[in-house]
Amino acid sequence: MLELPAAIRIYFLILSTVLGASIGSFVNCAADRYVANQSVWKGRSHCPSCGHTLSILDLFPILSYIFLRGKCRYCGEHIPIRCLITELLGGVVFLMYAYVYGFSLITLEMMILMAILLAVALIDYDTMEIPDGLLQFGVIVFLLFLPAHGDYAARLEDGALGALIYGGGMLILSLIMDLVLKKESLGGGDIKMLIMLGLFTGVFKGLLNILLACVIGLLMALGRSKKDEEGFPFGPALAFAAMATLLVGSQIIDWYLEIIF
Ligand SMILES: [Zn+2]
Repeated sequence: MLELPAAIRIYFLILSTVLGASIGSFVNCAADRYVANQSVWKGRSHCPSCGHTLSILDLFPILSYIFLRGKCRYCGEHIPIRCLITELLGGVVFLMYAYVYGFSLITLEMMILMAILLAVALIDYDTMEIPDGLLQFGVIVFLLFLPAHGDYAARLEDGALGALIYGGGMLILSLIMDLVLKKESLGGGDIKMLIMLGLFTGVFKGLLNILLACVIGLLMALGRSKKDEEGFPFGPALAFAAMATLLVGSQIIDWYLEIIF
């Protein structure tokens, strides 16, 4: 981590927040297009209800939503609150990672991973599917940034073990549940996602990640209406849990160990 003078550090944190909100905005739009089977990269941003191309004034994350009072400037249709939530989440998460990891390659690695997790959460929530491409991209990011970590051999070993334990564990659990319930219980996407996340969390933080994901998943399931009986996506819970675990997982584990010993 590079030590920055105070003023530049504050500038870096502000820039990270704006970047996070913009990435949140982009990921939300890209996820919508992916779900609607449209090209993610082609075409300019437009209002989903009237189709009007958006101007630069409509595209400021968070601020545009507030100044337009959540409505399209051209047709008056409500902009989904989800846009504002992903922008806020992106801004806050990037700010916190920039604060904890400072001006470093690890911050960059985490920011890319956070964008992937945000996309996974949104797409899984809408479609109950996690695109393989996003998870493969996560694995590539893990490998590419290995040299940025001090003891990268240890990180690789811990990551591989985490992927094996949590991905493999989930696979065995799902096979047992399939046998008992006589239907497919856990999605293949969840298992692959745990393999990818296991790389980043390693063994100890991986356990915390699963516990947190279960708590978040339970809360989300309680908040969801009764009519969604066909199942519940676990990807968003895993994604949000990983955002917290990779940020403050070590501190939570230390604090917990201090309490019991
Ligand atoms: Zn419109």
